Amino acid sequence: MIQVRGLHKAFGEQQVLGGIGLELPKGKVLVIIGPSGSGKTTLLRCLNLLEIPDQGSLRIGGVSLQFQSGARPSAREVLSLRKQTGMVFQSFNLFPHMTALGNVVEAQVTVQKKSKAEARRRALELLEKVGLADKARSYPHNLSGGQQQRVAIARAMALDPEVLLFDEPTSALDPELVGEVLKVIKQLASEGMTMVIVTHLMKFAAEVADQVVLMDKGVIVEEGTPEEVFQHPKSERAVQFLNMLA
Ligand code: ADP
Repeated sequence: MIQVRGLHKAFGEQQVLGGIGLELPKGKVLVIIGPSGSGKTTLLRCLNLLEIPDQGSLRIGGVSLQFQSGARPSAREVLSLRKQTGMVFQSFNLFPHMTALGNVVEAQVTVQKKSKAEARRRALELLEKVGLADKARSYPHNLSGGQQQRVAIARAMALDPEVLLFDEPTSALDPELVGEVLKVIKQLASEGMTMVIVTHLMKFAAEVADQVVLMDKGVIVEEGTPEEVFQHPKSERAVQFLNMLA
């Protein structure tokens, strides 16, 4: 489902990803952990080409792309890879002038060219799934952070992506609102949605992940099942990182 090979990314002189390789089968959940600045968000953004990798290759669903320094993929290539993914951001990024329903309808009409009626049906189904059927007519500023993030999850799912990407989906939330968002993500995991999640919540990571990768300074320093990574880390760096959190 997802295959990443030799992915490199630099910002100016700073090498941020130094050769990342990953594989994730369909229906599985990969959680990316690691210290701040280790390149987690950049890796996630490379997976949907919000950042263009300098080198390496990506395959998501049926779409494969190779990257070489200086050569940008074509707009068509970017779009075809992006269609495979749905992104959920730290800060929700809902359209403020649209209702919850409007946010979930929008791309179905503009990108997928669905009829308004069909897009609304699907949007209502998804809002129901995230527990917000009764908030369809509310605007983002009348929703709590947790509700906004659940709308964002419904919106990301509306284009039927092969994989959902989450960038620290709870870090902008008040503590009492974190649980409702994690619950939705866990439910999606149990339904077999393929997901890549960047999080600093280790308990959640251990519960939801099939695979965990620990990044440090732009490379993967430890990977395996949650049990392997959290209970039996092999690298010195992983032991240090996990001890620091304990
Ligand atoms: P993490 O998500 O692990 O905290 P990031 O991927 O956000 O790490 O950042 C890794 C490094 O790349 C940091 O040093 C950050 O400052 C730098 N970086 C990220 N995005 C950009 C950008 N658009 N331009 C320049 N530097 C960036």
